[in-house]
Amino acid sequence: MTKHGSVLVLGAGGFIGGHLVNKLKQEGFWVRGVDLKHHEHQGLLVDDFIIGDLRDPETVEAVMDKPFDEVYQLAADMGGAGYIFTGDHDADVMHNSAIINLNVLNYGKKAGIKKIFYSSSACIYPAYNQSDPDNPKCSEDSAYPAAPDSEYGWEKLFSERLYFSFQRNYGMNVKVARFHNIFGPYGSWKNGKEKAPAAICRKVAMAEDGGTIEIWGDGKQTRSFLYIDECLDAIRRLMDSETFSGPVNIGSEEMVTINQLAGITMEIAHKKLALNHIPGPTGVRGRNSDNKLIKEELGWAQSRPLRYGLEKTYWWIKEQVEKQ
Ligand code: NAD
Repeated sequence: MTKHGSVLVLGAGGFIGGHLVNKLKQEGFWVRGVDLKHHEHQGLLVDDFIIGDLRDPETVEAVMDKPFDEVYQLAADMGGAGYIFTGDHDADVMHNSAIINLNVLNYGKKAGIKKIFYSSSACIYPAYNQSDPDNPKCSEDSAYPAAPDSEYGWEKLFSERLYFSFQRNYGMNVKVARFHNIFGPYGSWKNGKEKAPAAICRKVAMAEDGGTIEIWGDGKQTRSFLYIDECLDAIRRLMDSETFSGPVNIGSEEMVTINQLAGITMEIAHKKLALNHIPGPTGVRGRNSDNKLIKEELGWAQSRPLRYGLEKTYWWIKEQVEKQ
């Protein structure tokens, strides 16, 4: 069904933002994208793309020059474990992302935007519920007492609260989702901001059959990974809901160890590789999405296994490796 209306995507030059822009265009919206940079990996079907720094209030005021029907706030200073868990980027991660969200809400309110989506993260969940790799607890109501294991998680939790306070005090229509490891083609794969699926795909693609790849930690830490198309479907359902604002998990319940993730990638690549476990930032021992609430409220459930998205991601990254 063709939709009419104007949409603003902040962070449109990023992985999820780029995919979202193209989906919204296909649905028939007029779309403006904003980012510090153009998308590095795919062409965007966008109507208007503004290069700008959302830490700057004047830029935010300028890009929010009309009462957009929908705003998607995806811009953040973020990356995988190698970026978030080393501690080296804590000040930037907290300062840059918080100031973006403060600006966006302030000028979004002034512009009279109709609805705003905020991308929070599974990283807000308390570390004390994620120490057993087989039984992590990540239901939405387990967020408090808060104890995220990274400053990235603390900023997301602060910003969630900021969005809901604008909903309460100014009547803004706010939607908040907590993403759990979204992956797919056209994302970071080698710039230090890549996450486990992309990093493992790259290592497997670059290795000779019979060779060795490095894995951070013992590889027994568990995670779940959601393919980008499924994530977009869940975001759109949340935005279209008349009654439900979240916060809600958007993730997969197919939990695997990092060693298993490497194993599936090797099967896809038809390669047998040894795993060399080296010290590195690993985050919590176990994490899995809990999809009870999203099923109840939005009727959403993951439709395909991890392997489906991993195949698509692997072959895209292999192509990038060969192009170098
Ligand atoms: P990404 O890094 O690919 O995209 C974020 C974009 O924001 C980048 O293109 C970046 O240039 C832009 N940006 C950063 N600072 C900016 C600024 N000052 N002004 C303008 N643009 C700026 O990340 P992504 O994977 O697409 O994630 C999108 C959102 O979802 C982020 O808020 C992230 O924290 C959240 N999230 C993602 C995941 C995931 O698994 N990918 C998980 C949890 C939460």
